[in-house]
Amino acid sequence: MPATPEALTDHSASGVLEVRWSDGSVHELPHALLRRRCRCAACEQQRRSGATIAVAEGVRLTALHPISNQGLNLVFSDGHGRGIYPWAYLAALGAELSPVA
Ligand SMILES: [Zn+2]
Repeated sequence: MPATPEALTDHSASGVLEVRWSDGSVHELPHALLRRRCRCAACEQQRRSGATIAVAEGVRLTALHPISNQGLNLVFSDGHGRGIYPWAYLAALGAELSPVA
């Protein structure tokens, strides 16, 4: 499992966050997927209550804030910005989408 990212490239036009890992693999994470899989307390509570988290496909990342060297805090165009995405979580999301090259 890739542990640390070497490079982050935000393709805002296509709505994809590209993560290049230290082992050379690359994941392309759609912004809408990242928003849908937010793990902040409010989203987790919604999930537990069985509610669907409505996310527009056109949602975009508006800011990425590194959290020391552990991961990212992502801010979205719908105003949601409390989710923390540890590197291991981003790697797991990427692995769901595509086998590691
Ligand atoms: Zn959230």
